[in-house]
Amino acid sequence: MSFSSLGLHPLVLKAVEAAGYTEPTPVQAQSIPAALAGDDLLVSSQTGSGKTAAFMLPCLHRLAGGANARQPRILVLTPTRELAAQVTRAADIYGKTLRHLRYISIVGGTPMHLETRLLRVGVDVVVATPGRLLDHLNRRSLDLSRLEVLVLDEADRMLDMGFIEDIETIIGHTPATRQTLLFSATLEGVVGNLAQRVTRNAKRIQFAPTREEQPRIEQKLMYADSKSHKGRLLDSLLRDPAMQQALVFTATKRAADELSTNLRIEGFSCQALHGDMNQSARNRTLQAMRQGRVKVLIATDVAARGLDVPGISHVINYDLPRQGEDYVHRIGRTGRAGREGVAISFANHDEGGLVRNIERYTTQQLTVGVIAGLEPKLKAVPRHAAPKGARSGGNRPYNSQGAGGGGRTFSSPDKPRSGFGKRPSRESYSQTRRPESN
Ligand code: AMP
Repeated sequence: MSFSSLGLHPLVLKAVEAAGYTEPTPVQAQSIPAALAGDDLLVSSQTGSGKTAAFMLPCLHRLAGGANARQPRILVLTPTRELAAQVTRAADIYGKTLRHLRYISIVGGTPMHLETRLLRVGVDVVVATPGRLLDHLNRRSLDLSRLEVLVLDEADRMLDMGFIEDIETIIGHTPATRQTLLFSATLEGVVGNLAQRVTRNAKRIQFAPTREEQPRIEQKLMYADSKSHKGRLLDSLLRDPAMQQALVFTATKRAADELSTNLRIEGFSCQALHGDMNQSARNRTLQAMRQGRVKVLIATDVAARGLDVPGISHVINYDLPRQGEDYVHRIGRTGRAGREGVAISFANHDEGGLVRNIERYTTQQLTVGVIAGLEPKLKAVPRHAAPKGARSGGNRPYNSQGAGGGGRTFSSPDKPRSGFGKRPSRESYSQTRRPESN
């Protein structure tokens, strides 16, 4: 398929050609004609799929024939300043042939008065992070009443970062007649709810990842006799030389704080991430993790949703998730950007029900692993037969290399150490814990 068959304006095609693109990527081939037809779109797409051109080209097509507007006609909302900068660069490249095109990036951390001055002159395209955009709306330096297209880029990340209210307020300032193009890694859960509220008869464009694109995550289940046994297992895993960065899940915020404190005492560069922390503290922690200054992140489900840190080599379920869906979200935080990952779940011997939830959801039987020298002494309550349809070491939804037997056992520390897990536990492991409520 060629770009010229998609129906784009000749000036836009010229810019695409100048960018050196010969044929549209799959997400572009499907999204561009639908966007040109005026449809609202829900597109599940990953970074690197060509998604920016998938929404930017049809937007620029709209602007190719028209004179400048005083008010913006296109608004792209992105979760981060970095992504806003990337999208603005794309507007520059793909809009190269549109001489009259005026665009602006509106993000925090830059002087507001400069943005205000440019907005007063008039722009066609605004690329913004939600917080700063809302500041302009509140100061009435921005008017979105003539908006034609709203793009929500990486919607899942915007929601993870707590922008839901800002987004809804911003949308309240746009006309109901607008076209909405929502791009997100996932279209399920909270993103799906938002999509339902802000789009009309949206066309869904979804790509099943190819086998090569599927994350390769080695999954293991490890039984623990007690909380202190879990501590020793964790300690050993975190000292494994193969461990680059780890994301450890606990069931509660309190447990996340406690574990994080214990690990810091043990000398690990470790921080907690949970819903009691304000957004800027969460952002700082994530930034430290991205920059590799923090090696271990102890998180609750809510805080870690959609988290994208390529260096996470291990996900450890210190506490098992209650739902199979949460398990899949959790382990998907490793094996990102084509890398391999390891997901290890600790289970108490009487948590067979939770293990079965996972296996039923993933239709895959978890392989039990042990660390030499740290084998459990107690016997697990039998997990019964494999769940219906379960395949040992199958690859749905994740490829579990090494599952189904023959997987590596994890190395134990060279010599016995006085790990934090060896300290007398202050609190026995509670079976009645409840997931975080925020
Ligand atoms: P994105 O997913 O939008 O971040 O794009 C990922 C990369 O793919 C960017 O560097 C784009 O320049 C490049 N790209 C986008 N569309 C095409 C295309 N049709 N052919 C070749 N490269 C492309």
